[in-house]
Amino acid sequence: MHPLEHRFATVSERIRRAEAAAGRAEHSVRLLAVSKTRDAQAIRACARLGQRAFGENYLQEALQKIDALEGLGLEWHFIGRLQGNKTRPVAERFDWVHCIEKLKHAERLSQQRPAELAPLRVCVQVKIDPEDSKGGLDPVQGAELIQAVAELPRLELRGLMTLPAPSDDPALQRRPFRLLRELRDRLATAQRPLQTLSMGMSGDLEAAIAEGATLVRVGTALFGPRAPN
Ligand SMILES: *Cc1c(COP(=O)(O)O)cnc(C)c1O
Repeated sequence: MHPLEHRFATVSERIRRAEAAAGRAEHSVRLLAVSKTRDAQAIRACARLGQRAFGENYLQEALQKIDALEGLGLEWHFIGRLQGNKTRPVAERFDWVHCIEKLKHAERLSQQRPAELAPLRVCVQVKIDPEDSKGGLDPVQGAELIQAVAELPRLELRGLMTLPAPSDDPALQRRPFRLLRELRDRLATAQRPLQTLSMGMSGDLEAAIAEGATLVRVGTALFGPRAPN
């Protein structure tokens, strides 16, 4: 078996087991293949195994791959840091954005989303633990942004995303995921169900699924270790 095929089967199996362990329906968790730093060929190979959704962090690199793989019917998720002056290509070429932290960025994406495309699906990024160095709003700011983003016509607000500091301890891993889910439960309304919980990566996807993740973002467990940049 090709190494990618083997890793893809392993990751899919981990997700199915975690769903079952949590008493959740099979296939209630989606796999987002995080393909930053991987070439178009690796993505094509992964797509051949049935994977459709790919996550990218770096805009220039992503746009080249989106061009190269046009016609495969892939779904592109932007999961990196948004820059205010570079929202247009994101609005035009991606299907999802997971990392909304600023109303100004959300407004631009909404204005720039082409009329012929479906609304851009977005998640607001929340930082559960103030110690985390990675991005995201605190829960109070997150709640305010949710309110504002829900009003934007060309965005479809899908839920929340978080990127906690990595931990090897399964009990510690679950805490930020549980808190994100609880925040979602408080903020959800009938008009704005916030169904998506984008949380969990190669090292902690089981913990995230146990706490209600609907989409896990997996890079190294799928494509192997990333070369240091
Ligand atoms: C790189 C990255 C991932 C994937 O991380 P792995 O540990 O390689 O699975 C997930 N989410 C975000 C936002 C990332 O930048």
